[in-house]
Amino acid sequence: MPIKVETLSGESATLDDDKLEELRMTFRGPLITQQDDGYDAARAVQNGLIDRRPALVIRCSGTADVIDAVNLAREHGLLAAVRGGGHSVAGHSVRDRGLLIDLSGMRGVWVDPDARLVRVQGGATWGDVDREAQAFGLAVPGGIVSTTGVAGLTLGGGIGWLHRKYGLSCDNLRAVEIVTADGRLLRADRSENEDLFWALRGGGGNFGVVTSFEFTAHPVGPTVMCAVPIYAEDPGEVFRAWSDWAETVPDEVTTRAIFWTIPQDPHMPPQIHGRQVLITGALYAGPPEEGEKILQPVRRLGTPLADLSAPMPYRMFQSAFDFFFAKGALSSYWKSLFMSGPPGRAADLIVRYGLERNAPQSMVHVPLLGGAVSRVGPDETAYGDRDATSMLSVDGNWVDGDPAEHVAWVRHVISQAEEFSTGGTYLNFDGDGPGEGPELVQAAFGDNLRRLTEIKRRYDPQNLFRLNANISPA
Ligand SMILES: Cc1cc2nc3c(=O)[nH]c(=O)nc-3n(C[C@H](O)[C@H](O)[C@H](O)COP(=O)(O)OP(=O)(O)OC[C@H]3O[C@@H](n4cnc5c(N)ncnc54)[C@H](O)[C@@H]3O)c2cc1C
Repeated sequence: MPIKVETLSGESATLDDDKLEELRMTFRGPLITQQDDGYDAARAVQNGLIDRRPALVIRCSGTADVIDAVNLAREHGLLAAVRGGGHSVAGHSVRDRGLLIDLSGMRGVWVDPDARLVRVQGGATWGDVDREAQAFGLAVPGGIVSTTGVAGLTLGGGIGWLHRKYGLSCDNLRAVEIVTADGRLLRADRSENEDLFWALRGGGGNFGVVTSFEFTAHPVGPTVMCAVPIYAEDPGEVFRAWSDWAETVPDEVTTRAIFWTIPQDPHMPPQIHGRQVLITGALYAGPPEEGEKILQPVRRLGTPLADLSAPMPYRMFQSAFDFFFAKGALSSYWKSLFMSGPPGRAADLIVRYGLERNAPQSMVHVPLLGGAVSRVGPDETAYGDRDATSMLSVDGNWVDGDPAEHVAWVRHVISQAEEFSTGGTYLNFDGDGPGEGPELVQAAFGDNLRRLTEIKRRYDPQNLFRLNANISPA
């Protein structure tokens, strides 16, 4: 049956039966249309709010499929989304009536322990990377939920539990292989296509489809000391005390404060189910015995309701939040801003909204930045704000109610926090509301935006890759 696919100009292109048959013969991975079994699973993404019906999903089996998919999009002018792990909160990785170039079948990970090199295909998740790298006692700085895609997270920066010691995920990139809009497969690193390599470290999915990443890995674990004290009393005092402590910690400590309501889930102790809490989590990237001493103060900021702190396998901590983020279970809209000075400056506001959240599933989340993140110069990579000391991320999540009201709440909190903002925002943590695009990319990239628009013009003058936090070609 012929299908109609939306084009870059907003019209439709028809792919008739003969064309579809030819494509099915060409591609090694499956082509999935609305008529095919598995269509609903193929279009599903992480954010339950995003319920979109692409015209055609191409599940690529390797680089050759990606090249052919990009050529198909360009030759027919098709509007194409690119999906790695499918965690885009803004829903960039699927589009109604569009083409979906899906890399979820490309999840290979190879580790060269002598070179401390980890090579990762463009559809892998952080759980895939941690599984292979930890077999050699290595880790690449990634995110805090193991089902998140390596691609989107790295291309947008990448913060987690190791960024203060080893930098953002994108700071650990040695090279990428990428299919650009003209269908060429390019390698980009510090000596080849350097401008593209610069842009890919923070500039998102604007420049092509990355088929593989090469990362530098670091010795981590397998056992690391993790602090997970859960406070319910005196949240204002605890938050301020956490902020004071966070100012003194070495780079080995990456820490974050999270206001949340403990879900009724067997992963959490039953006696704290349903309690509104402040968690001051931390990981020590060094010997666990040393970590136990250094993380002691964060467990004594008040009297914890529960304390789940322990030396534990790094991989276990990396997937500790997974149960809460089951695919499609929550509707989400997040927004963030970078802050300067100690997070305690904004304590009144953060604690107020941390306690008055729109829904129990929402989080008011304050990751500490600095350390290795700030030692990279502001124009060494495309990533926006290197000087920020912390971030305020208002992670709106809900299971019922009017989405417009939840979105409005998140936007309200962020607007109230402007006075603490550096003016920058973290694109990986941003939803996408009407008209927010241009404003967001300016805030995210600051002075680097100009150079990004020039590189975009060189590699994607038609703006084929536009379903992202879009950088217009200069
Ligand atoms: C539950 C959850 C936890 C998160 N935790 C963290 C965290 O700890 N730290 C953090 O920094 N961020 C985190 N994020 C945000 C996350 O980094 C971004 O949502 C990121 O874009 C997800 O990448 P993905 O590949 O899974 O997403 P996708 O939705 O597949 O893609 C996101 C963007 O990247 C583009 N893209 C995807 N694959 C490719 C590719 N191979 N080549 C080129 N472009 C590509 C897409 O077109 C899209 O624009 C989290 C998000 C969620 C939902």
